[in-house]
Amino acid sequence: MYSHTKKVGSLGRYGPRIGRKIRYEVRRIEDSEKGNACPNCGRYIKKEGSGIWKCGFCRLKFAGGAYFTTTEKKMGINSDSSK
Ligand SMILES: [Zn+2]
Repeated sequence: MYSHTKKVGSLGRYGPRIGRKIRYEVRRIEDSEKGNACPNCGRYIKKEGSGIWKCGFCRLKFAGGAYFTTTEKKMGINSDSSK
């Protein structure tokens, strides 16, 4: 079945309303949220609040970035030159 959000992924919900740059930024954050792993057991980790991360398996709770588990520099749309 053809998905009408194939190109934009989770940003399909915004429709044509938001611009291109912020679109990619939001998508990158949302996609990488799914890939955040627990530093202790390596399993998928959930965000409990802004900057608060809690692992459901080993019950590790720690502070990190708002969108990523670490505050390493992952932001910056211009660093991704593969497109
Ligand atoms: Zn864990």
